[in-house]
Amino acid sequence: MPLVGTKEMFKKAHEGGYAIGAFNVNNMEIVQGITDAAAALQSPVILQCSAGARKYANSHYLVHLVKAALEISDIPIALHLDHGADFDICKSCIDDGFTSVMFDGSHYDFKENIAKTKEVVEYAHAHGVVVEAELGKLAGIEDDVKVAAHDAAYTQPDEVEEFVKSTGVDSLAIAIGTSHGAFKFKPEQCTRNADGVLVPPELRFDILEEIEKRIPGFPIVLHGASSVIPKYVKIINANGGKLDDAVGIPEDQLRKAAKSAVCKINIDSDLRLAMTAGIREHFAAHPEHFDPRQYVADGRTYIKELVEHKIKEVLGSDGKAPEIMQLIKG
Ligand SMILES: [Zn+2]
Repeated sequence: MPLVGTKEMFKKAHEGGYAIGAFNVNNMEIVQGITDAAAALQSPVILQCSAGARKYANSHYLVHLVKAALEISDIPIALHLDHGADFDICKSCIDDGFTSVMFDGSHYDFKENIAKTKEVVEYAHAHGVVVEAELGKLAGIEDDVKVAAHDAAYTQPDEVEEFVKSTGVDSLAIAIGTSHGAFKFKPEQCTRNADGVLVPPELRFDILEEIEKRIPGFPIVLHGASSVIPKYVKIINANGGKLDDAVGIPEDQLRKAAKSAVCKINIDSDLRLAMTAGIREHFAAHPEHFDPRQYVADGRTYIKELVEHKIKEVLGSDGKAPEIMQLIKG
């Protein structure tokens, strides 16, 4: 099966009350860990590359790594550009064979965001590629995207209908309290649960509901939706790392979102933490090792474990590959 777009994935996800995981990829072991997990659970999956990933690995490596994964698995895989900053990077990815791109015009004013998004949509649709856009502004840091907390803004439900209609976009990333990075909230914004884990304030499900009312059935995307899983933070800190007060989005809130119009949930920081945990744990146990295959493989093992957990416990997309392939094949 060739790379697929996200139209069929989102249609089924919306009808079935689940979400598709969009995992960021930067190298071979990350691609392998994610797609091994998705294939084992027969889950559809979106592999996404940021501008930073393209700079790090070279876009051609990433495209071919994803195509290799496709050749050895029988699940639907979409290749998506995460946070395209301008028309040129979106065009370049479309020309490279990506099946989905995000144009992030969230830092422009409303009218300019519409105009610039529309330009990308026209080129993408002419090439059979779908487009995700963003309204509202997430706080946090992810590669080249940096937004200070005081510049962050929730999505205005009043704007979504006009935005979707005038741009022709295929899915919409919204801001309802998620944020980029592993330090999503300051400890003083959180409470502690019985296990001593920092719990942040609840996502703004009221805004999500308002948005759903304005554009019923339209696929919604959540960025910055890692949970900063305490297990991996603990392993990192127990093996020489220093990640104090890292806080993410609790998984029960993401599960709730996955059952709604949210069809795509982005996960990057959790992958970084899982891989770092595997490598740090390996070095602490085997300081004499110097073969990268030994320690990077442990990072890959934790990535696979993490993605299996996300698919089963958060996204609910396990076993959904066949129904999507069926819809695509018509
Ligand atoms: Zn993002």
